[in-house]
Amino acid sequence: MEWLIGAAILAALLVLSRVLWIHLQATQREAETVRRERDRARDESNQLRARWDLVTRSIGEGIILIDAKQQIVFINESARRLLNLTGDARSFGEIAWGLQVQPLVAEILAGRAELLSQSVVNDERAFQVTVRACAADSSCGAVIGISEVTELQRLGQVRREFVANISHELRTPVATLRLLVDTVANEIQQNPAAANEWLGKMRGQIDALHQLTTELMDLALIESGQMPIKLVDVPIAELIDQVVQLLQPQIRRKQIVIDAQASPAARALADPDGVRRVLSNLLHNAIKFTPANGRIAVRALAAGDNIEIQVEDSGTGIPARDLPRIFERFYKVDRSRGQGEARGTGLGLAIAKHIVEGHGGRIWAESVEGKGSTFHFTLPAS
Ligand code: ADP
Repeated sequence: MEWLIGAAILAALLVLSRVLWIHLQATQREAETVRRERDRARDESNQLRARWDLVTRSIGEGIILIDAKQQIVFINESARRLLNLTGDARSFGEIAWGLQVQPLVAEILAGRAELLSQSVVNDERAFQVTVRACAADSSCGAVIGISEVTELQRLGQVRREFVANISHELRTPVATLRLLVDTVANEIQQNPAAANEWLGKMRGQIDALHQLTTELMDLALIESGQMPIKLVDVPIAELIDQVVQLLQPQIRRKQIVIDAQASPAARALADPDGVRRVLSNLLHNAIKFTPANGRIAVRALAAGDNIEIQVEDSGTGIPARDLPRIFERFYKVDRSRGQGEARGTGLGLAIAKHIVEGHGGRIWAESVEGKGSTFHFTLPAS
């Protein structure tokens, strides 16, 4: 009898332990599932944080998140850089020029607007600041975006100056042409010889307008990269010869002595049309600014991996204060000098600079007022 009871207890214990075992297994499986879920959520959150870090670090825009009390919740590297922040800034108000957009921030935090934007100028730098409400997140009151727009504003200024320069350049020939047309109309009956003379003057003004529009088109094409540079092996001496021959009538008219010295060994990897253009502009200027019976020398020398070409004249020279600016578009040393033959567009050297730099070369000038100028440019040797 006793052994029967013992066996029953044993059996009951066995069943119980089996039940406990099964329960334990289920609990363990559940714990395992919970752990896996938690790991997955942690991985996802790490991944999200890594992506957020990457995005906020790589964008150029400065981003600052502030809470309802204007305490900084997050600030990215670009914002630190744009604001020149070195240490820690807790509150948005601490950021000195941030005060300039304080009214915007206050409006957003008071819930009176969703998005406000303003331009801020600080230390000759221009910024566009955008303040946006972040209603969905209770820890965040507003997101402040800061972009630097100094370069954009500078480009806008360049464009405005460009248009002003073109208008200025066009005004004189157009006004002169109008006057000439009226004069010709009056003279044509009574004095055909005088009318012919006026027509000659009109042709001169039309040529000036034609040169201006052609050079403007060329400059626009070069600057927009639509005038490709085709590099070939170029004998520099031949190109110098061709350009000198083309300009011979003007050289002879002013009885200028020209000395062109280039070794046949001087060969460059260059676009022949481009180099002809540069040479022709430099020589044309040298002739234009050199008085009758003056001298011009053209040389090509080997300079390391480059060929250096020099155009030297015994002309008027360029004042030291103007020298750094002559390669700018429309720059003319003295507008009053630009009369008659010396009248130009001020675009030639800007075009030459683009062409030379497009070859990876350099162009510069040395000059002594009253004595003469030397223009240098380099091209890669072939
Ligand atoms: P432009 O069509 O007026 O000659 P450039 O761009 O070729 O325009 O030259 C810009 C200015 O640089 C000229 O107006 C002139 O004042 C000055 N310059 C250029 N070359 C010479 C030179 N060889 N001697 C003196 N002044 C020069």
